Amino acid sequence: MKKIPKKTLALIAHDGKKADMIAFVKDNLEFFKSFELVATATTGKLIQSCGLKIKKLLSGPIGGDAQIAALVATGKCHAVIFMRDPLGMHPHDPDISSLLRICDVHNTPLATNPATAQLIVKGLYKNLLSK
Ligand code: PGA
Repeated sequence: MKKIPKKTLALIAHDGKKADMIAFVKDNLEFFKSFELVATATTGKLIQSCGLKIKKLLSGPIGGDAQIAALVATGKCHAVIFMRDPLGMHPHDPDISSLLRICDVHNTPLATNPATAQLIVKGLYKNLLSK
């Protein structure tokens, strides 16, 4: 039987939201094991410490968000969980806006807070079970 390739999820967390991301990943560990994971550098390093295999890209401020946008645009990333800090200033705001826009252009699921991330997890999990 032909093996169905795993879908890829991208994970990004701003510094003020990294604790939320780790708590979220720990709460949904089994779910995340069913996907190929990519992340911006520091977020990825933290997620790795939860025992998950994850491909680390550049850190957000030096192009990591842009790399994830490129994966979405080329159909290589199927959902993005981005724990954004709405109260912080970010030197890479243009890259962040671009990532949000690219997700909308390609109708790619995008969560920017834990509540929406949980809905994505539920939706994708249901999808996995129906295969
Ligand atoms: P980081 O990048 O995971 O390397 O901290 C995230 C960001 O700030 O966009």
